[in-house]
Amino acid sequence: MESSLRDKYEVVIGLEVHAQLKTKSKIFAPDGTEFGKEPNSETSPITLGMPGVLPVLNKEVVNMGILTGLALNCEIPERCKFDRKQYFYPDLPKGYQISQYDEPICINGHIDIKGKRIGITRAHLEEDAGKLVHAGADGIAGSSYSLVDLNRAGTPLLEIVSEPDMRSSDEARAYMEELRNIVRYIGVCDGNLEEGSMRCDANISIMPKGSKVFGTRAEIKNVNSFSALQRAIEYEIDRQIEIVEEGGEVVQETRLWDDNSRETKSMRGKEDAHDYRYFPEPDLMPLVISREWVQEIKDKMPELPEAKRRRYMSLGLSEYDASVIVEQMGLALFFDEVLKLGATPKIAVNFIMGEIAAYLKEDHIEITDTKLTPENLVELIALIEKGTISNNIGKQIIVDMMKTGEKASAIVEKRGLSQISDESAIKEICQKVADANPEQVARYKAGKVQLLGFFVGQVMKETKGRANPKAVNDLMKEILG
Ligand code: ADP
Ligand code: MG
Repeated sequence: MESSLRDKYEVVIGLEVHAQLKTKSKIFAPDGTEFGKEPNSETSPITLGMPGVLPVLNKEVVNMGILTGLALNCEIPERCKFDRKQYFYPDLPKGYQISQYDEPICINGHIDIKGKRIGITRAHLEEDAGKLVHAGADGIAGSSYSLVDLNRAGTPLLEIVSEPDMRSSDEARAYMEELRNIVRYIGVCDGNLEEGSMRCDANISIMPKGSKVFGTRAEIKNVNSFSALQRAIEYEIDRQIEIVEEGGEVVQETRLWDDNSRETKSMRGKEDAHDYRYFPEPDLMPLVISREWVQEIKDKMPELPEAKRRRYMSLGLSEYDASVIVEQMGLALFFDEVLKLGATPKIAVNFIMGEIAAYLKEDHIEITDTKLTPENLVELIALIEKGTISNNIGKQIIVDMMKTGEKASAIVEKRGLSQISDESAIKEICQKVADANPEQVARYKAGKVQLLGFFVGQVMKETKGRANPKAVNDLMKEILG
């Protein structure tokens, strides 16, 4: 779309994010929540919606709800309650979902994204539905029958609803990424969009620039990655502008993003709250959360991503490096261990962001899948700082350390990699290199001093990188005169 057309409109975005809480059992039933079990093996009469059963609230779900609320700067009201949301769907055997309607567990929060505050209206607890597996011969679109797997039914969810505060797909993505960081660092959710442990519905509308009245929103479902979220929003903005430019009106509806065809398609008209016939869940008492309970959880709050970034920057990391490490929680937790053991931050970061990150990326693994321990990295760094080995040798052996779990000192000893700092030994090699390259020596002497790099390179090659680079530089200059 022409940018001039885009410039006429302001985009308004609000996100509803469902985070699956990592409890062992379900929100109202004792069945397990483990992913990938045999279909319908993690069920119980409660989950199946048998007559006469009663839900029992899982306290750990409430703990995680409070913890997340506090991390999102929310208020935790003294009282919240559960409500029934009625609708029919084959993956919902009870015919209703237990959710929270007008008294959610968390209200009035916010998070800051690059200096901009995004409001969080509320976060409420609810149960997940089961899963339909479209099993017909023609695949999803034309399947002739579907199977239902109720293992997921009753898995606890926290739905986090933002204010319509975002104004671009970049902001929406940044908000979503930070939300994912937060739930992962506080340990309540895997934050895996691809596997659906975190799901996002994007509400999007447009209005003429300068207007104060929001346009009608469309709600986009089925975005399974950060990049898909951005693509879906960009597509939807263009679609809505086109409608308005042609004199039409955007209708309030739910649309599905198709990441293959890269477009949204209408799924259904948007229900209003009254369509669900919400009423207070008669089988559960309202939940009273004492201030002591909230304080107890507050006291256990781990360091949040923003605080971690700021701490890393105070150690001398650039904003970029700090953000990249925090994005990869496994690396950040490893880095913290290394710091605790007293390593120099800058050298540790260079290894972690360099060789280590590259190796992990190549094999699609986490640092905990390797045999490298924080202690071993710290020992390696100490060898470099003492001058026993060069930084280059360190880079060469770190991959072996990840593969074998061996200590740096053991590898260095076994392979004879310790740095040659002995002046006479280095001088001898420098002389040898000079003798072997008379032509270059003549050119150097005639004024082409840039050739020093060539000579130093030859010496390093000769010593397999083990010579102390500063000593080589000095001695080579001396020999070349
Ligand atoms: P529903 O369940 O009907 O989708 P919610 O209150 O749960 O309603 O969520 C509404 C979401 O839509 C919120 O994230 C809110 O910020 C966002 N929203 C509301 N109005 C607009 C609008 N005009 N344009 C874009 N987003 C909006
Ligand atoms: Mg909603």
